[in-house]
Amino acid sequence: TIAITGSTGQLGQLALAAIKARGGQAIALARDPSKVSGEARAFDYTKPETFGALKGVDVLVLISSNDFNDRVGQHKAVIAAAKAHGVGHVIYTSILKGDASPMILAQDHIGTEAALKASGLGFTLLRNGWYIENYTGALGAAIQHGAMIGSAGKGRISGAARADYAEAIAAVALDASKQGQVYELAGDVAFTMAEMAAVVSAKAGKPVAYVSMPPADYAKALEGFGLPAGFAAILADSDDHSSRGALFDESKTLSGLIGRPTTPMAEVVAAALA
Ligand code: NDP
Repeated sequence: TIAITGSTGQLGQLALAAIKARGGQAIALARDPSKVSGEARAFDYTKPETFGALKGVDVLVLISSNDFNDRVGQHKAVIAAAKAHGVGHVIYTSILKGDASPMILAQDHIGTEAALKASGLGFTLLRNGWYIENYTGALGAAIQHGAMIGSAGKGRISGAARADYAEAIAAVALDASKQGQVYELAGDVAFTMAEMAAVVSAKAGKPVAYVSMPPADYAKALEGFGLPAGFAAILADSDDHSSRGALFDESKTLSGLIGRPTTPMAEVVAAALA
C-alpha cells in the first residue's frame, strides 16, 4: 500500500495521476480529504491525532510541506509517526544537492534527510531541482513590462517540469528495486534566465529581457509584489545561489528514472502562455 502526502498540492496531484497512469494506486493523505477524488484519508502534519492514517501503509511518499512555520518539525513528526505505525519505506522530496546545497531553503531538507537517516526506516531521497513553473507563474506581468527579474545572473539552471518530478515519484513508489537510493533530479537541458526570457519574448512576440539584480534588491521587489519579507529573502537567496550553479546538474538522472527526456523549457513556457 502506497500513501502520499501533499496530495492536494500541484506536485501531489500530478504524482497521483502518474501513479494511476502506470497502473498503480495510492491513498491520498490530505488535510481536507474531500478535495481528493479516490481513496483519501485525513492527515495533517501538525495534528498527531491524524497520524493513524499511516496504519497499513508500506510506502509513504512524503512531499515536503509548503508551510514554513517549522517545516522540519512537521517532517520529523511524520517520520516518527511512520516509524511508529510500521511504514516500511519513506520517499521524500528533498532539494537538489541535499546537504551540499548552499541555499537557506535547503536547511529544512537537510534536517529532514538527517531525521530519515536516524529513523532506521528505509528511505529514498528525490532531490528535486527547480520546477520550471517557478519562473512561469508571472509571465503576464513580465511580458507587459518587457522584463523578467531575479538574481540568477548567467547561472545555468537545470529546471524540469513539475510533471517530470511527479513521474519520478510514481516510478520510485511503484518499483521497490528503485528504492533506497539518493536521486539528484533535474532537467536534461540547462538554461540561463536570459535564454528563458528570449523564449518568452519569441512566443509572446514582444521584447522581454532578463534583468538580474543584487539579491537584496530582488527581495525588495518580491516584497513589493506582496511576499512576506522573510520568504522574499529566502527566494532571493536561492536565486542568487543559482547564479553560481546551485541549480545546475547534468547527471540526467531524472530522464533515466522516468524513461524519457525531460520536458523542454520552451514547452513549459508555451503551456504557461496558452
Ligand atoms: P503546493 O503548495 O501546491 O502543495 C503543498 C501541499 O502541502 C498541499 O497539498 C498542502 O495541503 C500540503 N500541506 C501543507 N501544510 C500541510 C499540513 N500541515 N499537513 C498536511 N499537508 C500539508 O506545492 P507543490 O505541490 O507545487 O510542491 C510540493 C512541495 O515542493 C512544496 O510544498 C515545497 O516544499 C516544494 N517546492 C519545491 C519547488 C521546487 O522548485 N523544487 C518549488 C515550490 C515548492 P493543503 O491543500 O491542505 O493546503
